[in-house]
Amino acid sequence: MQALWFNGQHEIEVKELMIPKLQQDELLVHVDACGVCGTDFHIYEGQAPSSIPVVLGHEYTGIILEMGSKFHNLKIGDKIAINPNIHCGYCEFCRKGKINLCSNLKALGVTLNGGMSQLSVVPVTQAYLLPNDFPYSKSVFAEPLSCCIHGINLAEILPGEKVLIIGAGTIGLLMLQLVQLRGASDVIVLDPIRFKRDMASSLNADHVFNPLIEDTLEKIIHLTYGGADTVIECVGNQVAGESALNLVRKGGKILIFGLSNNSDLIKVYMQTFFHKELTLKSSILNPYTFQSAVDLLVNNKINVEIFNPHPVLLNQDSVEKLFNRSDNKNIIKFMVTPNN
Ligand SMILES: [Zn+2]
Ligand SMILES: [Zn+2]
Repeated sequence: MQALWFNGQHEIEVKELMIPKLQQDELLVHVDACGVCGTDFHIYEGQAPSSIPVVLGHEYTGIILEMGSKFHNLKIGDKIAINPNIHCGYCEFCRKGKINLCSNLKALGVTLNGGMSQLSVVPVTQAYLLPNDFPYSKSVFAEPLSCCIHGINLAEILPGEKVLIIGAGTIGLLMLQLVQLRGASDVIVLDPIRFKRDMASSLNADHVFNPLIEDTLEKIIHLTYGGADTVIECVGNQVAGESALNLVRKGGKILIFGLSNNSDLIKVYMQTFFHKELTLKSSILNPYTFQSAVDLLVNNKINVEIFNPHPVLLNQDSVEKLFNRSDNKNIIKFMVTPNN
């Protein structure tokens, strides 16, 4: 089988790998598609930890080809989405239900071989059944959506809130829709890139702004009568983090969601923080939210057609272009289609 092997910073190689022998609790999956995520770029750039070498790709979906033993709810030929995050079940965090904080966390596509591969071995605990006619261009969003659901749950958005979303990439636009489902009265989206702002508008964001235009921050403060109830940061850099602190109202909440680089730092005036009585939260991974993500997708409650993920073939030339970002004009989401 062909797979995308990550050999260390800026080193990727499409090469033939042996098909591993299945353990009893594993499935062999024919990968239909694997979404490419900001985290993959961070790993490629040496800005996020991973095993080396490893097959990249943690947002994938496919068809069961073989099973290590019988499982009552799955059969060969079933279509599944894969939750890449595997917790140990025996550490202190797992024992208290915080499986995303597991001390021994493993993840397909990060520490174990993942989905940018024609075939993938997946523990059965990670497989989520999909309808057989469900398109892979939609199910690749199950993993990022599951992470967003966890974030939204932590942010505890209440009906009628004014919510500001900083960044209108895939994550920001998924957050936008989840915030709407929770009954926010006003959703404001900030992004410097025109086509992303247009996507936010077509998803019925109430207000869409370019942060690079001079009086944007004042406008948002004015529009929200002093700041947003909740700010969701979906960029992962200093400017976005500081904007979140400036644009949240007294008594408000900030959710830091974007993955930043190692060196990104936000400086906060302690007194501003004190006077505003703020709640600052962060969110990582997707504890017990993967099934909800699948259900929302299957029941068409989240528009992911709008992302129209751009297929990338699994060959050296195509993946190098992808990871060097040489060809991403007006494309919001890529997916590797290893069997095309
Ligand atoms: Zn991801
Ligand atoms: Zn654990």
